[in-house]
Amino acid sequence: TSFGFRDVRVEEKQGLVRDVFEKVAPSYDLMNDFMSAGVHRLWKDYLVDKVGVFPGMTHLDVAGGTGDVAFRVLRELRRAEEKARRGGGGGGGGGGRARDFDPGRVIVSDINPAMLAEGRKRARGRGLMGLNAVDAKGDALLAKLEFVEGNAESLPFEDASVDVYTIAFGLRNVTNAKAALRDALRLLKPGGRFMCLEFSHVTQEPLRSMYDLYSFNVIPALGELVAKDEASYRYLVESIRKFPKQRELEDMMRDVGFKSVSHDNLTGGVVAIHEGFKL
Ligand code: SAM
Repeated sequence: TSFGFRDVRVEEKQGLVRDVFEKVAPSYDLMNDFMSAGVHRLWKDYLVDKVGVFPGMTHLDVAGGTGDVAFRVLRELRRAEEKARRGGGGGGGGGGRARDFDPGRVIVSDINPAMLAEGRKRARGRGLMGLNAVDAKGDALLAKLEFVEGNAESLPFEDASVDVYTIAFGLRNVTNAKAALRDALRLLKPGGRFMCLEFSHVTQEPLRSMYDLYSFNVIPALGELVAKDEASYRYLVESIRKFPKQRELEDMMRDVGFKSVSHDNLTGGVVAIHEGFKL
């Protein structure tokens, strides 16, 4: 059967994407490591470093899948909150105030319940669920982790309710990326930050040919070998090819109203982080 997404009608894409991730969910984490030789971990670390967590923040990770990005943010955030609570009396300017914040929220959101279920299982395995630390009254002291099903094009969150929105390897799977950008802008607080980590376009020549060779031949073959599913992995490669170039995505972000838009190429443009702010 042909798996040519090029000819698929827009309204069918969502269902097909759902099927792909339904199928790959159990093998998803293994395949990520396998296909990127573990490098996706470094890209995600880099993204989370750039987030700039702060006590009490609300972080939303859209298309969060099995939680890779959200778990990193949660760990950083709980660390920052612990420090703020401990360091309150330490004499630093404004230290007294620092103790006084409601614990933050880290929300993993995804359209696919199978991916979220896998994420919950992992979070439990890592001891990230639950309140983690409570005060004498039983109230949470540190940020909580939540899982919420939702389509990036119209998420079930209130206007101006989120400090930082991340989407990692997700935007290219969304049927209407522009609608997702618009919804991101809607739910961010003024001053809030949007960050998209996504496969992008390699510009430099020797690397580009090598990368094409790898993605068109090696990845589908590995998909077949490891997950017995060549078609799904062929889709992944095609979706990367069709995704807007770095500058085009920047323009889309500006079009919907993001300010201070920029991008940062990693690994020669194999992936890029696009960011923008709601002002
Ligand atoms: N962010 C995770 C990571 O980096 O490991 C998962 C990335 S995975 C390649 C893409 C995810 O996008 C899948 O979990 C899929 O279910 C989700 N997805 C696809 N279309 C979506 C949509 N319209 N809204 C929200 N999530 C979507």
